[in-house]
This record gives sequence, C-alpha cells and structure tokens, in this order.
Amino acid sequence: MAENKAVLVIGGGFSGLTAAVETAEAGNDVVIVEKNPYLGGRVAQLNKYFWKLCPPVCGLEINFKRIKNSSQVTFHTLAEVQEVKGEEGNFEVTLKVNPRYVNDKCVGCDACAQACPSYRSNDFNFGMDKTKAAYLPFNQAFPFKYVIDANACSKDCGKACAEACKYDAIDLNMKPETITLKVGAVVMATGWTPYDATRMDILGFGKVQNVITNMMMERLSAVNGPTGGKITRPSDGKEVKNIAFVQCAGSRDENHLPYCSYICCLASLKQAMYVREQYPDSKAQVFYIDLRTPGLYEHRFLAKAKSDPNIILTKGKVAGITEDPASKDVIVEVEDVFGGTKIKAAFDMVVLATGMVPGTKDTKIVKDISYTPDGFVDASTAKKGIYAVGTLKSPVDVARSVQDATGVAIKSIQSLRRK
Ligand SMILES: Cc1cc2nc3c(=O)[nH]c(=O)nc-3n(C[C@H](O)[C@H](O)[C@H](O)COP(=O)(O)OP(=O)(O)OC[C@H]3O[C@@H](n4cnc5c(N)ncnc54)[C@H](O)[C@@H]3O)c2cc1C
Repeated sequence: MAENKAVLVIGGGFSGLTAAVETAEAGNDVVIVEKNPYLGGRVAQLNKYFWKLCPPVCGLEINFKRIKNSSQVTFHTLAEVQEVKGEEGNFEVTLKVNPRYVNDKCVGCDACAQACPSYRSNDFNFGMDKTKAAYLPFNQAFPFKYVIDANACSKDCGKACAEACKYDAIDLNMKPETITLKVGAVVMATGWTPYDATRMDILGFGKVQNVITNMMMERLSAVNGPTGGKITRPSDGKEVKNIAFVQCAGSRDENHLPYCSYICCLASLKQAMYVREQYPDSKAQVFYIDLRTPGLYEHRFLAKAKSDPNIILTKGKVAGITEDPASKDVIVEVEDVFGGTKIKAAFDMVVLATGMVPGTKDTKIVKDISYTPDGFVDASTAKKGIYAVGTLKSPVDVARSVQDATGVAIKSIQSLRRK
C-alpha cells in the first residue's frame, strides 16, 4: 500500500463500501475499518428494499465481489479507530482490532458452533433469538467466517470448539492488536442506529410484549431471521394478521428527534406489504402524522400501497398503547383526524416506526468536525481531507447514500492528488 496515498474509510455499511470500491476502482488504495464482525451495516439486516422489494443482499453481494476482485481494498472487521492525527495528505491513524478467535483457515463448516455448549443473545436479530458463543453473524455474512464471543463462553468450554474444528481455525490465544496506518484522506461512514424506543413511555415498547420496532420487523420477516420469515408475534407465536404501524415514533418530536427520519413511512408501507403478502386475509393499519414518500417513491410505492384496500392509512398521532392482559393484544388509542373521532382498537402486534440517530458517537475521535444542532455531521465545516458520507449527514435511503458516497470518493481522490 502506498503510504499517504491511501484512503481510510471508517464504517463498512453501504455508504462506506461504496466510497471504498469507487475510490479503489479509480486506482487508489483503501482501508475499511468496521466494528462489526461483518461488512454491510444495517442493510444486511433488512428483509427487502423499497420500492422494488428485492433482497438487499444482492446489492451487498455486488460490492463484496468488487472488494474480492480488488487488490487495492483491505478491510479490518471487529476494528475501531482510536486516534487520527495529522492533516490532509498525511494522517496517522491508530486502530484497535479485537480478536475474532477464529483465523483465516475457517471454512464456515459450523462444527465449532455445533460443539459449543454456550449461548448468547443474537444482536443481529435484536435479541429475538440466541446463537451459540461460536457463531456466524448471519448466513450470508462477508467475510464468511465464524466469530467467538468470549463474553458468552463458559469456563473451559473453548476446548470443545477447538477440538471440533478440523481446520485448526480456532485460536483462543488471539489478543487485541494495535495497528498504525498512514493515509492521505479519511472518510467517515459510521451510519446510524435506531432511536431507543424505550424512551417513548406512552408507546409501550419494553412493557407491552407485542410492540416491536421497525428494525425488529425487518428481522422478523426475513427468511434468515429468528422465525425463518414467518411473521408471528413475540408473546405466543400467533400469526400476525391484524397489525398496526405507528409513524414518527420519536421523529418530528422536539422531546426526541426534531427531524423527519425520511425512510420510516416507506419502511412501514413496505412492512405492511410483507404482512399482506404472507397472509392474504390480513389487514394493516398505518397511523401517521403526514405520509412522506419523497420523489419517485410517491407514484412507484405509495400508489401500490394505496391500491390495496387492506392497507389502511389513517391520519392521527397515537396517544397511548397498552396491553390486553388476557389476549396479549395491543390496544392503540389514536385520534382519527379525517374521521373526526377517537379510535381505540386492538391489534395482534404493533410496529413502532422508530427513527434514525446518526452514528456520531465514534466520529468524535476525528478532531475538527462540527455537528449540526440535531446531531449530524456538518460536512461543510470539516477540515480538508476529512469527509462524511451517507446517514451520518442526514437520514437517507440507500440510493442517496450511494450517490453521496460516489461524490465523496471523488473528493477524497482529489484530496490525495493535491498533496
Ligand atoms: C426500518 C428501516 C427499513 C429500511 N428499509 C430501507 C429500504 O428498504 N430501502 C432503502 O433504500 N433504505 C432503507 N432503510 C435505510 C437504510 O438502512 C440506510 O439508508 C442505510 O443503512 C445507510 O447506510 P450507511 O452505510 O450510511 O449506514 P449503516 O448501514 O448504519 O452502516 C454504518 C456502518 O458503520 C459501522 N460503524 C459504526 N460505528 C463505527 C466505528 N466507530 N468504527 C467502525 N465502524 C463503525 C457500523 O457497524 C455499520 O456497519 C431502512 C431503514 C430503516 C430504519
């Protein structure tokens, strides 16, 4: 790798991956640093993409292939940046790479997981199921390598997985490593996290068992999710045939997130379609303040939802969510603005359309960055050679993240050439 002529990309979600492959295919070295044990970010957790409803894994696969075919992209998973010093053309970056306890000989055969006696909560599925302590993050993970969660291992159980591995791929002596890199430009692509739904007391999340978030709904609908794609409710596994979606769960609320999270209306319409497709005798009701389906999504997607009489769109802000203790149904109270009445209705399950919070917690490591009052990176004030991309700058869909990342790739190449 040509020192100082490389670009560091922090975050291996769709934005970071795009910035990395576009930069590399223009002839520059790129290093991706990703804190998860896999690349792909939040998109890897989605069931389908609006508006075409195709599987997101296709888009990710294309980028993974571009990485595999490129000699100019290297990546570190389970890694985080600890320090960034210097200036455009001459940054020194310190990384901490945490141990995977599984080396490159891993062929993904599952023998270690089968032998493993310990379990951990599955964070990929938002805790809706468990994996073994030796696990593959998900069935299409890239890199396709197992990981061992040392915190979940029981005393002395490591012997079982090491003995089960025919390929000598388990290395329980791995230690955290510190790596120093010299790069010419830095791209921050640390993305977003879901807003903490427990903070909205009246919406029942964490107290009412059959209230889940929109990201949980993505996992619940996915064939590689906790129920194999069968949309059933958490309390008793009942098929969900009467579902409600609560829009702006946190977004557009001065007490929570003052901004519109851009994708939530589209996500709920998409998820209403998941239910309608799975159970033809189902109905889905979406409670919204304003339905926002920007640009081409209006006629390509909203129109499709509206053409289904069993997707009911009701203008009204939800005032309270409680549980029927006997049936575990979810009771939603809401004012029907157009109908001029108050609705109190029971649903099998309720999905909160929780908003997107910028993943800026870790960008603070990079100095000389300003933040907007609502917490996103203010790219206009960043120092030369440091760029932010995608959902770190505002809540956006994948298409916009990709456009932005392609632009940022050009900016960072220009930056390398200035020096
Ligand atoms: C319910 C829901 C459904 C959605 N459905 C769609 C859809 O159908 N179609 C669509 O276009 N969009 C959809 N979106 C939006 C989509 O998820 C985002 O546009 C996309 O995730 C943006 O990618 P990103 O790379 O900017 O961020 P992310 O996907 O968040 O990726 C950021 C990456 O950075 C990593 N990272 C974070 N901090 C660090 C750190 N300190 N060091 C190293 N790595 C770090 C993360 O682990 C992650 O891998 C949906 C969003 C929601 C909430």
